Amino acid sequence: MSDVHDLPEGREIGRVVGDAAGPTLIVVAGIHGNERAGVGAARRVLATLARRQGRVMGELVALAGNLGAMRLGVRYRERDMNRVWTKDRVADLESRARSGGALDAEDREQLELLDAVRAAIARARGPVYLVDLHTTSAHGLPFILFGDTLKQRKFASAIPLPLVIGLEEQVDGVLTAFFTTQGCVTFGVEGGQHDDPGSVDNLEAVVLLGAESAGLFGSGLLTETGAAHALLERRRGDLPRVMEVVSRHAITAADAFVMEPGFMNLARARAGQLLAKSRAGEVRAPKDGMVILPLYQGQGSDGFFWGREVGAARMHLSEALRHMKVDRLLHLLPGVARDPARPSKLVVGERATRLYRLDMFHLLGYRRVRKEAERLTLERQLEHAAE
Ligand SMILES: [Zn+2]
Repeated sequence: MSDVHDLPEGREIGRVVGDAAGPTLIVVAGIHGNERAGVGAARRVLATLARRQGRVMGELVALAGNLGAMRLGVRYRERDMNRVWTKDRVADLESRARSGGALDAEDREQLELLDAVRAAIARARGPVYLVDLHTTSAHGLPFILFGDTLKQRKFASAIPLPLVIGLEEQVDGVLTAFFTTQGCVTFGVEGGQHDDPGSVDNLEAVVLLGAESAGLFGSGLLTETGAAHALLERRRGDLPRVMEVVSRHAITAADAFVMEPGFMNLARARAGQLLAKSRAGEVRAPKDGMVILPLYQGQGSDGFFWGREVGAARMHLSEALRHMKVDRLLHLLPGVARDPARPSKLVVGERATRLYRLDMFHLLGYRRVRKEAERLTLERQLEHAAE
């Protein structure tokens, strides 16, 4: 068995297959090459499950994300591999591969990873889950993010870290979002700072509890899950269990945006509190809420995300509305139309955007909000098929 700190030799880091049929959990580590803690974490869980193979149902397989970048210790070589997973881009990549077209370093990585995930899906003997492991350059609290479907909420709820809803939807081409469209139940996790040994512990606990949540072994059957749970509870401290992104504070270089010091990656803010300064003046908290991923270093177009805690009542309300398929009625609202080509996408005319609160759409899972010309488009992940 390789040391947890060794680089993976090939795409597959390891695999444990139970005798009994059951779910498949695919773990992706190092999709950003400088985030290697996930490799060690995956190896530890593989070792734990290998010792109890008789109790494992289904399969756990761990895959390396960007092998070439991992060897160089860089985030990526040509292109960020967590921004390339749109349906159009994957189709284009596959057609270039078939026709012998030019492929760069990350194209080849992506094709191999795609093949490995598809192979795991093809040999699955039950539902397929996928967890993508990350770490961050700055020290921060570990948290979970996922596309807002009911099944993904349920899967992620087993992890006692803060669950951030509506963040995955802020960017396009994310790996987990793509594999949700391929039928996998997914979440991503930010495990802590890249080189902090504690990040390996955090990610190990997340993968182990993820495997339990997916049903790879009976609930509470492994003694290690108790400690994993306690560790992540401690890491969460007094942060809310569930929070959601309400809005994005977009910036440009011309704004001269400077975040006030002292905010963690997830931090409570009080109404009126000074959050940042920019050329346009002070940015203050509109009400009590959460600052999510404040920008402290480097360039970026996200100053921070504004969010709030989601209580159990609101979680239940949104689940109930979705079970009732209230969603189907949204296009009856004045100014709201359904995209004929994509049933999970709504188009809201400019005037209508002032009529409705985005909040109502968020409740129903429409969290991918984009401005196209004078209109707003709101998209959600389709719910997974019933088992
Ligand atoms: Zn990352």
